[in-house]
Amino acid sequence: MGQAMLLIPKDCPTYENRANSEEAYRNTGLFYDDGFEPKITILNRGNFAIPGKGQQPDYCHTPFISHLKGDGTGAREIIISCKLSRCPSCYRLWIDQKVFDYAVKVEAYAQLTGSRPARGVSSLHPDDIVDITLQDIRNFHRNTNDRVKRCDVDAGVKVFHAFRIKKAVQDALRTILGGEINSSGAFWDALSIPGRVDEINDILGTDYVNWRDCVNLSPHIHMLLFPGDQKFTGDKKIMLKKLSSKINGKKVWTLDDERDVVKHLRYLIGHCGILVNSGKFRNEPLNSFGDMWQFKPEEHLTEKELDDIRCSILSVLNEGRSTTLLYTPEGNLLFDHDDSDIEDEEIDNYIPLREYIAYGDVQQESVDAWVSSITDPDCMYYVEYLLERYRDILDSDIPSKMKRLYSADLRDPPDSFKIKASFVGDR
Ligand SMILES: [Zn+2]
Repeated sequence: MGQAMLLIPKDCPTYENRANSEEAYRNTGLFYDDGFEPKITILNRGNFAIPGKGQQPDYCHTPFISHLKGDGTGAREIIISCKLSRCPSCYRLWIDQKVFDYAVKVEAYAQLTGSRPARGVSSLHPDDIVDITLQDIRNFHRNTNDRVKRCDVDAGVKVFHAFRIKKAVQDALRTILGGEINSSGAFWDALSIPGRVDEINDILGTDYVNWRDCVNLSPHIHMLLFPGDQKFTGDKKIMLKKLSSKINGKKVWTLDDERDVVKHLRYLIGHCGILVNSGKFRNEPLNSFGDMWQFKPEEHLTEKELDDIRCSILSVLNEGRSTTLLYTPEGNLLFDHDDSDIEDEEIDNYIPLREYIAYGDVQQESVDAWVSSITDPDCMYYVEYLLERYRDILDSDIPSKMKRLYSADLRDPPDSFKIKASFVGDR
């Protein structure tokens, strides 16, 4: 991989052109020619994010005009969510969806096999964390799979974590919260509160800027494992530990109901490690393995059995929420609210903007005829303006995901022109 020479002709006439096309290429998000090499690039803390702590894509939650009303007196404005794990606006729903998907899978598998899942954590030996590459992490995943298999584990779910909170920071958090903090999930929750880093600095005399300064790069893998009564131990490549919890003074080795599973998954997924700044290379933070790899509950359970599991998991997820979640037949979570100003029967009156863009003379004539048929002159001029702007955008070389008529870039509509807003997907 060299410089971005792929799309730019060698004899590019001016430096300016070259810079522009390079910029346009980078903006597509497909620019992976940034020197990341899985076997060579040494990973650092900047190579990982946790959910909600990455960048929001430009198109997320930016309203744009998507449809025009058939009589030219209004438009439909749409707000979409990117639903990316790293997005500060969308990550909560991303976490809920993943918790739901994996909890349903775990509960279905538990029902079919009559076993409850145990918890385990696989870590690299400290000496092996130095100068780590993506290839090392891939090997770590493979070694972990092999090792648990040799311990007679049949199936499981894995959640990858990139960081551990620094010991001194943990102590500082204990001081701040008055000692009542014991699980690693609680530390992460405590760390993510605005202003918390300053409090930590006050105690430790440090000058940390953000949460990343409070953690060490320390890749490890959490697992829910079946069957739950297996003993497992590590080997020279990995440290493998079975985890227990104390319930009513008794040591418990398995997650015994769906509430435990949901709670545990939510805590694990809430700060999973998302590989970033790695060009086209990915590291899936969540995965299933063994018999759970490609395990589809709907192929093994009746509709009623699956629905019972989904319902019980959703009710745990919905506890303490003011706006509750629903699931579609496909298992996608949605918020139980309707943001749309537009009644269902009215939606047919709106036509996608794209259909007003003419590709030939005949079409152009009919679009022109439609525009001049708009009875309110203010509306007519505004529609003309919108279509002109939209044509310019389509003709430009901005990335296709950004080729939208963003409301913020438009001049205000006349009073007679009504814009109705709606969310697509969820907030
Ligand atoms: Zn988003």
